[in-house]
Amino acid sequence: MEWMAAALQNVGMTAATLPLIAIDGPSGVGKSTTAKRAAVRLGWQYLDTGAMYRAAALAIQRAGLDLSDRASLERVLATLELSLNEGRTYLAGEDVSEAIRSQEVTVLVTPVSADARVREVLVEQQRRIGASGRWVVDGRDIGTVVFTQACCKVFLTASPEARAQRRFLELRAKGQSPSFEAVLADLQRRDLADSTRAASPLRKADDAVELDSSDLSLDQVVDWIVARHQAHL
Ligand code: C5P
Repeated sequence: MEWMAAALQNVGMTAATLPLIAIDGPSGVGKSTTAKRAAVRLGWQYLDTGAMYRAAALAIQRAGLDLSDRASLERVLATLELSLNEGRTYLAGEDVSEAIRSQEVTVLVTPVSADARVREVLVEQQRRIGASGRWVVDGRDIGTVVFTQACCKVFLTASPEARAQRRFLELRAKGQSPSFEAVLADLQRRDLADSTRAASPLRKADDAVELDSSDLSLDQVVDWIVARHQAHL
């Protein structure tokens, strides 16, 4: 198992490391499902930072805000009451777990998450949450910005075609009938925006280990992360 051997290389913990597994990577690579399962296996908690950006985008959409209206954006951010509990996302106490997955929010979250001020506010909240307990956290900038001292950093990748194929099958299973080309184009749009934005672009942290999951099952990816983490202990 060559892919597993890589999990056990170059591990080491310093006094400054945090008990936190950071999983970054592009859209549709399966970070959330992987992170959730790894957290269950380890008895740790799971933090979905993408859900936080999506909830912020929903709040901005509901306020009818244009991002160039900075004073109104500040007001929305000042009253942004976000919480995550048992896999559900809440905005001012309302369960918005389904609403944040709509196509409108998926489109709006790209410019919202590219906004440096939005990121500042959400990163501060993420750090506050992560400071307590043991967490598996997934996102785009967890290893590079939010938790640079995470004890274990994984950069999960897969080819755009493999990611689009997985997303396509997921949507079909939910009763939707998207075209494969549209799913692929949406992923490529998000990849480009996330990796070229000025504020915290998506990139692999220097001390992260990259895992290409194109030809791996979900179980294999989770096994790899858990093995890599346990090698730190
Ligand atoms: O992970 P998910 O696709 O739900 O995230 C929604 C969007 O939030 C991503 O497309 C990305 O633009 C943004 N995001 C981010 N930084 C994170 C997590 C998500 O910019 N840490």
